[in-house]
Order: sequence, then C-alpha cells, then structure tokens
Amino acid sequence: IEEMMIRSEKMSIAGQLAAGVAHEIRNPLTSIKGFLQLLQAGVNRKDVYYKIMIDEIEKMEKITSELLFISKPLTDQKKEEAVSQMIEDVVKLLKSQAKIKNISINYHKEDELYVYCDRSQIKQVLLNLIKNAIEAMEDSGEINVSVLLIDSYVQIDIRDEGPGIPEEVIHKLGEPFFTTKQSGTGLGIMITKQILERHDATLEILQNEEKGSTFRIRFPAIT
Ligand code: ADP
Ligand code: MG
Repeated sequence: IEEMMIRSEKMSIAGQLAAGVAHEIRNPLTSIKGFLQLLQAGVNRKDVYYKIMIDEIEKMEKITSELLFISKPLTDQKKEEAVSQMIEDVVKLLKSQAKIKNISINYHKEDELYVYCDRSQIKQVLLNLIKNAIEAMEDSGEINVSVLLIDSYVQIDIRDEGPGIPEEVIHKLGEPFFTTKQSGTGLGIMITKQILERHDATLEILQNEEKGSTFRIRFPAIT
C-alpha cells in the first residue's frame, strides 16, 4: 500500500471559507434571479425553470446547514467511548442508502476498543467517510470497516472499492468546497479533519493495491 498524507492546510481556513461561501451562494442566487426575471417576462417552459431554481435552492440549503455544523459552539463532551458502538450506529444509518446501490458495509467487531472522544462528533466523522465511500462506488461492491489497536493508537480503516483518488487531486481533499460531485458540497472532509484535529487524531488516505481507497483514522490509545 502506497501511503499519502493529506497536506496540512496552512492557509487560513476562515479566509478560504468566506471566499468559498460568497462564491457558492452568489452563483445560485444569480441564476435564480435570472430565471425569476424570465418568468416575470412571461416565458414558456415554466416547469423547467422552477426545477432549476429548486435545485439551486437545495444546494444552498445543503451548504448552509453544513456550515452551521462548523460554526456550532464546540462544547466537546469527551468521554471514553466504545468504537464498535459508534461504528454500528453509523452503519445502521447508512445501510439502506448502501443497499440501493447493492453495496454491503462489512464490520466485524473483534476486541472492544475505546477512544476518548465526543461521541456525536466522531459519529459525524464516520458518517462523512462511509457516505463518501458509498458515493464513490458504482453499483455493487464492499465497504470494509476495521478497527485495530496498534502500539499507542487505535486505528479505524474505511476501505472502499471505488475508483480511488488521482494523485493530482489528493491534496485538494479537505479544502472547503472542493468536490467532484454534481450535488456535493465539498465540506465533508474539511469538517472531518477539523473534528479529528480536536481529538489529536489523524486522517490518512491510502491507495488500495487493487481497487479503491482507504481512509485511515488514528486516535491516541487510552493509557
Ligand atoms: P463531497 O462529498 O460533498 O464532494 P467531501 O469533502 O466529502 O465533499 O469530499 C470531497 C471530494 O473528495 C469528493 O467530491 C470526491 O472527489 C473525493 N472523495 C472523497 N472520498 C472519496 C472516496 N472514498 N473515493 C474517491 N473519492 C473520494
Ligand atoms: Mg462527502
């Protein structure tokens, strides 16, 4: 396995975010305004215009709700939490979405391992990464989640069978609004990295030998 670390972002996240938000919100607003002006002028094909406007509004809704998550005051509720429980909760949430694409999410609990964390934040991290894995895969395939205790850390791997990530793109993951998806927000990995940083945990992206990628989280082990 070839290892690739996510470049730690030195540019001000707040600055990038402000510029990104302005851009991401202004474009849909401009297009909605344009369509409203057409409707006001009394055009045909109203149904098409309505649909585009609703799509644009939904995109802004998605972005704003993810941004609200970021700006939520950070009242970390850190406790010793069982990793298996958090994974099982998230897998349950995503099962039906995976099933639609004929994807199975495999997780077999072995030794019970604990990490010191804010449970809801780490569930958000697991949700972001497993969701990305599902979205990366075409119809059918497997996502494997595993947990290991290695020396002084607890390692959680989320392994998919998607297309993998091109090397020239890998450093962009985690930049606000970087997305290759039609209806993506490009905020998931940024939020994930921020949460992990607050837990003294790390995120690595590995290219699988055969197919797909592995997102690897490492928490300091509880001593
Ligand atoms: P979004 O999911 O809204 O696009 P993310 O920050 O979660 O935003 O992900 C950013 C980008 O990283 C995705 O658009 C995709 O190109 C890439 N990516 C993330 N996870 C994977 C994965 N498991 N396999 C391939 N590409 C991925
Ligand atoms: Mg995502």
